[in-house]
This record gives sequence, C-alpha cells and structure tokens, in this order.
Amino acid sequence: MKVTFLGTGTSMGVPVAGGFKRKELAHDPRNERTRCSAWIQTENTSLVIDTGPEFRIQSIRSDVKNIDYVLITHEHMDHIAGLDDLRMYNYVSKDPIPVFTTETAVRSIKKRFDYMFGENKYPGSTSLSLTVIESAITLNELKITPLPVYHGDLNILGFRINGFSYLTDVKTIPDSTKKLIKGSECLVLSALRWEPEHPTHLTIPEAIKLIEELEIAQAYLIHMNSYVDHQETNDRLPSNIRLAYDMQTIEID
Ligand SMILES: [Zn+2]
Ligand SMILES: [Zn+2]
Repeated sequence: MKVTFLGTGTSMGVPVAGGFKRKELAHDPRNERTRCSAWIQTENTSLVIDTGPEFRIQSIRSDVKNIDYVLITHEHMDHIAGLDDLRMYNYVSKDPIPVFTTETAVRSIKKRFDYMFGENKYPGSTSLSLTVIESAITLNELKITPLPVYHGDLNILGFRINGFSYLTDVKTIPDSTKKLIKGSECLVLSALRWEPEHPTHLTIPEAIKLIEELEIAQAYLIHMNSYVDHQETNDRLPSNIRLAYDMQTIEID
C-alpha cells in the first residue's frame, strides 16, 4: 500500500493568506503546506482521505488519475472544500463517487453543496454517493475501520486502513478508539504546534505522548501551522516520529 501526503498543513495553510508569519520559517519546500489530504493506492484501489481547498492543485501535482472512494474525517472546510473538484473524476468513472463519513458531515455536505444533491441537482455538478460509516467495512482489499475521536467537542472520524491509521484534527482519543488503533504499523496524527495547548487540536508534545502510549513503531505528524519548521522540528522529535510534508510518499506493508 502506498500513501501520498497530498497536503499536510493546518486549516489556514502554510504560509497563510497574505504571506503573514512567513519570516518565521526557513526557505524549505517542506515548509509549504497545503490543507490536509492523503491518497492511498493499492494494486486495485485508489482512495482519498479528505478533499480540501487545494485538492485540484494537489491532484495535478501528485498525478491522481482516478478515485474509487473518498473518506471524509469531518465537515470543516479545510477538509471538504475540494469536493467540487471531484467533478472531473465523475467524467472518468461515469459513476457517483462513494464518500464515507459521519452523519453530521453528510448533513453538512448536503447543505453546503446543495447544488449537487436532490431534485435540483445542477446539471454537470459533482455526483457523490454519501454513506454514513459506523463500523468496519471492506472496500476491495482494504479493511476500513472508522476511528471516532474528538476535535474539541466535535465528534469526528479517523480511519484505520489495514495496518495504517490516519487521524487529523484530533484533541482527544477515547480508550475504545485507542484499542482500534493499537497494532497499527504506521500512524498519522495531527499536531498543530509545539505550544501553547489548543482547545481543539493536539500539540506536538501531546502527540508524542500518545504515540508512545499507543506503542506505534512509525508515526508521521500532519496539520502543522506556520510556526513549525520542518527540519528544526524533525531534529527535536524521537526518531520514530517525523513531520510529513506535501507530496511525500510512504510504503506500508
Ligand atoms: Zn483541519
Ligand atoms: Zn477541523
């Protein structure tokens, strides 16, 4: 299984609009972070987790030619704004794209992208088939297990895909979900910044603690803000934890 980080930045992206706060970071392409999205490829399956505002650009630069399934973690715009860009993939597949997410996100997507649904569906608009995922499902050779976590007070989902777990915008992981993550070969976890603590996101020190507690051998951090320098942070992290960067590809057995 191949995982490509299409984007690794926090909700505002890095650098932020207007280029503010840019001086804080070294000129390193790994410090340019588009909004979080991941692309999972196996021999038979192409699956995307989240489609943010830069999805069109991400799909071009990482050469995403087809999409069989989409998993959405939650309804914040930095994770769903790119749903409209999936239109092109409808032309490729000729079918609605299956999307799996929470009940709240299904409601929110239908409301915010109302022109894609129902009797008044605008001709040529993206066709999505929205499904609420509450327990593990199998899609081709992939076992997809939803991982309920908290993003502040908001119930959102991470996903375990075979031995790979992906969690973004997390603040708290319930014990029942920790059990589902345990044994993952690789974990991707969001971490906003070193400090201070944040009400709805894990910080880097909090993420390190969780990765240790879950006894994960290999972990990558995503959703970092514009104060997190790639090289400087990697130098401070335990050797089994790395910051992910845009367009990075990793292989999972
Ligand atoms: Zn986010
Ligand atoms: Zn969010």
